[in-house]
Amino acid sequence: MTKGNINVSVENIFPLIKKFLYSDHEIFLRELISNATDATLKLKHLTSVGEAKIEYGNPIIEVKVDKKGKKLHIIDQGLGMTADEVEKYINEVAFSGAEEFLDKYKDSAKDTGIIGHFGLGFYSAFMVAEKVEIITKSFKDEPAAHWTCDGSPEFTLEPHDKTERGTEIILHIADDSKEFLEDSRISALLKKYNKFMPIPIKFGTKEETLPLPEDAKKDAKPEKVTVDNIINNPNPAWTKQPTDLEDQDYKDFYRELYPMQFEEPLFHIHLNVDYPFNLTGILYFPKMTNDLNIQKDKIQLYQNQVFVTDNVEGIVPEFLTMLRGVIDSPDIPLNVSRSYLQADGAVKKISSYITRKVADKLKSLFNNNREDFEKKWDDIKIVIEYGMLSEEKFFEKADAFALYPTVDGKYYTYDELYNKIKANQTDKDDNLVILYAADKDAQHSYIEAAKAKGYEVLLLDSPIVSHLMQKLETSKEKISFSRVDADHIDSLIKKDDTKISKLTEEQKTELDTLLKEVIPSEKFMVQLESMDSDAAPFMITQPEFMRRMKE
Ligand code: ADP
Ligand code: MG
Repeated sequence: MTKGNINVSVENIFPLIKKFLYSDHEIFLRELISNATDATLKLKHLTSVGEAKIEYGNPIIEVKVDKKGKKLHIIDQGLGMTADEVEKYINEVAFSGAEEFLDKYKDSAKDTGIIGHFGLGFYSAFMVAEKVEIITKSFKDEPAAHWTCDGSPEFTLEPHDKTERGTEIILHIADDSKEFLEDSRISALLKKYNKFMPIPIKFGTKEETLPLPEDAKKDAKPEKVTVDNIINNPNPAWTKQPTDLEDQDYKDFYRELYPMQFEEPLFHIHLNVDYPFNLTGILYFPKMTNDLNIQKDKIQLYQNQVFVTDNVEGIVPEFLTMLRGVIDSPDIPLNVSRSYLQADGAVKKISSYITRKVADKLKSLFNNNREDFEKKWDDIKIVIEYGMLSEEKFFEKADAFALYPTVDGKYYTYDELYNKIKANQTDKDDNLVILYAADKDAQHSYIEAAKAKGYEVLLLDSPIVSHLMQKLETSKEKISFSRVDADHIDSLIKKDDTKISKLTEEQKTELDTLLKEVIPSEKFMVQLESMDSDAAPFMITQPEFMRRMKE
């Protein structure tokens, strides 16, 4: 048996680890399962290149709770370690990593922002354990090793009789961390961090009912079997090629990601790039509500299928944080503060790539099926309008497909609007004017009056779109937006828009007297001409001020 001192200058690093990572103890499990996964994938690689001459088989990782013994076991069938390797990787390398972390972040670690995103690796086990054992057998022909450390810089290393290949980590859970001896807590953690990890993870067993054979007797009872309870899907949709997936696969994956979400997503965007950075993922456009604050189901960030966080601020442009789905990239630095992230060149590239992909997808939906796009507009407009306001690049692209609806449910793009009113407003040498209503009911009579004069009226009723109008006015300078109940609306009537009278003067006088008798002139306006030769010969309207007088 070897006794030794872990090679570290900090006298006792464990209290420090505990203290600095206090808010995020639970990540120890993610770290240990990541190590188990790495060990298994490394073995897979070694067997495939012929360096490990063993049968790879179908290795799994197992997590076991021993509540009575106050122990938590994480067992893998990966490449294992020899005693020398334990010395090297656990006693030296891993520790220097932790030391470096503490040196670097002693002060900033209080800024909890960084903590959840930092993998402290193997030593994070000491956040919850008072003693940790490693029993490991290398795939190489060497005896197994047993390492024990009780949280002081001293450790013991001795041979062990373990014969199966792989590593078992045993955590003797500390009294203040008893929650990690609860099945429900561990199960929830596994679901949170490990749901899509690439090696199957077993947590207990479950009963499964076998389907009855075709020729089963009527009163036959279905057979029950006990099977491993595998908590993860090692091949999630985003790791596959888009060409291998059907629309239904994307919907199923959405359900898998958000089991409590019963509404179907409107559409998805599959992200897949490997140069100049590596990123895969699937984003979904859900139906947007106006309430931006209530958003539980967020975009999840993964690194090589390990869940990292659902705070993607700084990585995804803000207007897209309303989307759902998954982003997986090993190229996002996670051990740094958010403000650093925003300045990081790689992250900036990722962010603009995502923006571009989203814009391209929207454009293709618009081009390929305009009718369907119009139907979805109300559910997605918040994101698009917000994006146009906040990201110049997105504005430039979205200008081609952003829609402006009329009060009658027609949808125009900016250019379509422009061409339409240009043909009509011949008196305007500067900006053309489009009328809009912000409230269809309150401005009803104005809308009707404007329509009677031949105008189309837009319905722009969200707070975001009012900012967007300002931006369109200042940046494009082609159309100005005018409220339908603004005073100057009469002056907009085009010059060559002479009123058309279908009635003779005689008929007019006759009609005028007749109408005056039946229609109270303080409540309604009578006009014996129209703007349009197709319209009725006379018009009775009720302007807003008259409507108010009635009340
Ligand atoms: P990292 O995973 O970033 O390398 P860790 O502190 O998590 O750092 O682990 C340190 C090293 O210990 C690993 O690189 C690996 O060599 C070794 N190790 C840890 N866990 C296992 C395991 N389950 N099987 C084999 N080797 C392991
Ligand atoms: Mg690790």
